[in-house]
Amino acid sequence: MHLDSDAYARIIDNLHDGLYFVDTNRVITYWNRAAERISGYTSAEVVGRSCADNILTHVDCYGKNLCVEGCPLAATIADGVDREAEVYMHHKDGHRIPVSVRASILRDPAGKVLGGIELFSDISNFQVNALRVAELEELALLDNLTRLANRHYLNRDMQARFEEYKRHSMSFGLLFIDIDHFKKVNDTYGHGVGDEVLRFVAQTFIANSRPFDLYGRWGGEEFLGVIRNISATDLEHLGNRLRVLIENSYIIHEDQKLQVTVSLGATQVCEQDTIELLVKRADGLLYQSKQTGRNRLTMG
Ligand code: GH3
Ligand code: MG
Ligand code: MG
Repeated sequence: MHLDSDAYARIIDNLHDGLYFVDTNRVITYWNRAAERISGYTSAEVVGRSCADNILTHVDCYGKNLCVEGCPLAATIADGVDREAEVYMHHKDGHRIPVSVRASILRDPAGKVLGGIELFSDISNFQVNALRVAELEELALLDNLTRLANRHYLNRDMQARFEEYKRHSMSFGLLFIDIDHFKKVNDTYGHGVGDEVLRFVAQTFIANSRPFDLYGRWGGEEFLGVIRNISATDLEHLGNRLRVLIENSYIIHEDQKLQVTVSLGATQVCEQDTIELLVKRADGLLYQSKQTGRNRLTMG
């Protein structure tokens, strides 16, 4: 069977995974439909640009910018060895999406290196979360701005977790999260841009959560994560990963990167707790993070 190049293009466009080609200078030459869907960038917006040029800017879980050092695609173009990695991709709306990437080299029939191919799968929690969003919307338990659970639902969920803890000793933890100097964002760029920032921070929580974790908007620029069945160490790691991902998230506003940081308080439920005490403790720990310099997590 012989397929013409249009047929190949259609096959590539219908792949479930994102796929793009770069030349030896890492200039993007092809960007399929799934890549558009996962990243929010259309083909017209990215083809002809370098992938390091404020578009994809992959980071690893430590926030290291892989475009500067450690780009799997660049390494593959250099040595011809296929690579796989889990990285966090920048979405046009600002948030970070976890993706599993596979890089391979592209050669012409004579063996000359033309560039590289990256295939990436969306491993975010967005699909699972869509069901919850629909349910919460129906019950008026959704925060309309961020599309996270609202405070009412957070209270309900904490109540359920608390009963589970009392009856079955199923532990859970809280992450209390507050955006740093958010008032300054509003004052400098306006309320509308402030809203955009709230949305991308919220989407970073969702994209990087597990299906049974709950993130909600507690109020203003404050969020609460109710994290089930997790050790203190893992809760601290999770909170810090979110912190690093948000620190590395951005929107482009008038050609400039606009970024924020968050401070966190993290704690686990204990014997003497009530929900009020637990939330208060998390809030107190968050306050310590603010006092000691912001963009940090305090565990207690
Ligand atoms: P800190 O680092 O101490 O937390 O400083 P901050 O500026 O973030 O804290 P502060 O509590 O002084 O300001 C919070 C700001 O959040 C003030 C309020 O206008 C803004 N805010 C609350 N809700 C919304 C919203 O829905 N949209 C926007 N754009 N801003 C909001
Ligand atoms: Mg704040
Ligand atoms: Mg606040």
